[in-house]
Amino acid sequence: MNLTTRILLGMLLGLLCGVVLQWLALPADHFLRTFFLDGVIAGGGEIFLRLLRMMVVPLVLISLTCGAASLGATGKVGRLGGKTIGLYLLTTAIAISLALSLALIIDPGLGVGELETASYAAKEAPGLKATLVNIFPANPIEAMAEGRMLQVIVFAILLGLALNQAGAAGKRILAVFEDLNEIFMKLITMIIALTPYGVFCLMVTLGSRVGLSEITKLGVYFFTVVLALLVHLAVIYPTFLRVLTGLNPLIYLRKMREPMLVAFSTSSSGATLPVTLRTVERRVGVDNKVASFAVPLGATINMDGTAIMQGVATVFIAQFFGIALTAQDYLLVIMTATLASIGTAAVPGVGLIMLTMVLDQVGLPAAGVGLIIGVDRLLDMMRTAVNVTGDGMVATVVASSEGELDRDVFADPDAGAVIQPAQSSAPTQ
Ligand code: ASP
Repeated sequence: MNLTTRILLGMLLGLLCGVVLQWLALPADHFLRTFFLDGVIAGGGEIFLRLLRMMVVPLVLISLTCGAASLGATGKVGRLGGKTIGLYLLTTAIAISLALSLALIIDPGLGVGELETASYAAKEAPGLKATLVNIFPANPIEAMAEGRMLQVIVFAILLGLALNQAGAAGKRILAVFEDLNEIFMKLITMIIALTPYGVFCLMVTLGSRVGLSEITKLGVYFFTVVLALLVHLAVIYPTFLRVLTGLNPLIYLRKMREPMLVAFSTSSSGATLPVTLRTVERRVGVDNKVASFAVPLGATINMDGTAIMQGVATVFIAQFFGIALTAQDYLLVIMTATLASIGTAAVPGVGLIMLTMVLDQVGLPAAGVGLIIGVDRLLDMMRTAVNVTGDGMVATVVASSEGELDRDVFADPDAGAVIQPAQSSAPTQ
């Protein structure tokens, strides 16, 4: 059985197991709850998440330092950065415009019955100056310890550029970094092989908690977000890929199944980053020079799925409270949501915090977030899968335009596949 099938099986079995446990409505001190659900399963899921997170900072540092060092040699850093950031902003702006348009057609907030409005504290959008200054680390060790991804990215780029200019000393250290990069890729391959078990645990927990009653009440909102996510995934990304690279989008989507499933199970593009990076490099064929920069940056600043939720949520909340928004307000929503995505972390649920900033900009009550919180857990899973697919798509487009895409790797269905130890004694790195 290939890895994707095993992951899917793990997810389905986990969900089934969780739903059955929820249905059994076990008492709090029941053995199955204390030992199995809150013990083995919760622990297993947490260990899987930790293993993924364990890889993020070292992988980004090492991989991007190597990438920047070889980029420095070609003098392409600025152009590559401009293209990548430009495409990230463009796809996010398209995502939120699509969401606003669909929501204005479907009107998810009209005719909704009584809903509880849990209170929700608004967050202020960080100012432009603070956002820019915060990209630069005062202390790289602190940036790494705190997992401040943009600061780690800036440090790795500068280190790579310096290695490139430091003559023999730079060459020696770069060789060490390149070896480390291979070793880390191997390590992430080993962790990916555990994914079916990890997602099983995460899905049991989800299945044992999630209720469908909220979805029935917020059904139209829920399905508008899902529809917009699907259109973005199945129409916008494939169009970008086809038009800008001539590649077959179906092959791309098939290769991205593993990061998508991990993103879906973990609800965190940050935790999924090691899987996305490995897939984009080894399975899609994007050279390390581009992937090591575009993917971590994308995981941090590119959140198309999140922007989609925000677009639909804004319309929903405005309609629910009977507040009319003008064309200008919608433009402001597009701008704030696009920019807010840069300053926020890629962790579960952060989309809602960003939403309060967007609502604030157009004078909608932050309490509106309380309306949709009940279905956000499930939507977070789906939009995170879209977020990582967008990161990989932009990396592929940029690589293709720079001649840094290996089309043979792209076309080979088995390239970089994680082979289970039982199938081969020498798994592909
Ligand atoms: N969970 C999303 C991510 O990590 C962010 C969000 O939409 O809350 O990409």
